[in-house]
Order: sequence, then C-alpha cells, then structure tokens
Amino acid sequence: MKCQHSAPRQVCLDGVSQVDKRPVGSPAKPSDQPAKQQVKVQVLKCRKESCRGLLAFEETDEGYLLGQVLELAEVDEEQRRFFPCPKCGSRLLVEEYVHRDGKLRVRVSGFIPTA
Ligand SMILES: [Zn+2]
Repeated sequence: MKCQHSAPRQVCLDGVSQVDKRPVGSPAKPSDQPAKQQVKVQVLKCRKESCRGLLAFEETDEGYLLGQVLELAEVDEEQRRFFPCPKCGSRLLVEEYVHRDGKLRVRVSGFIPTA
C-alpha cells in the first residue's frame, strides 16, 4: 500500500508567479441572518410629478408596502386593487407578489393619473 502524501505543493520559485487558488463559492452559509435588516421606509407618495400627495401608507426602499395594506385597498371595475391619492385622486395600483425574501408582500404595480 502506497502512502499518499497530500502535502501542499508550493511551487513558487521566484516569487513572481503566485497563483493563489481559492475555492470559488466557499460554503459560507448565512446560517443566522440578523432578524431586523435595515430597511428604509418612506411615506408612499402619489406618482404624479405635479402632485406628490402623501398617502397613509409606508413604502420601503425595496419597493414594497408595510402592513396588511391590501385589505385596505379599494377595488376598481377590473378587480384591480388601488389606493386613491387624497390630493388629486390618481390611483396607485397595488398587487401581491413574492418578495425575494420569500414572503408575500404588496407593491405598487402601476399608476393611473387623473386627467
Ligand atoms: Zn396625487
């Protein structure tokens, strides 16, 4: 039976051609992610440039709305949920979607400005 030495081969004669081979995609698992991530929250605003009315909802910088807002949304003729702008009456369409954290969230999916 042969003894198989697996000694690290350091072939570096002149110190110039150093090839550091590191395992790509090391198994560094994010086992325990911090429960609270810093998500910036801002007041949901009317998408109309000339309006910018404030709605009573909060939107994160990741693009979803906080809270169970879908239940508060109004439904139009085409069964689309929306929030009316209290200032100009434009409609901010909202929809449910699966965020990249795997949770079902609500985002603004469209905007129907008033004429
Ligand atoms: Zn508005």
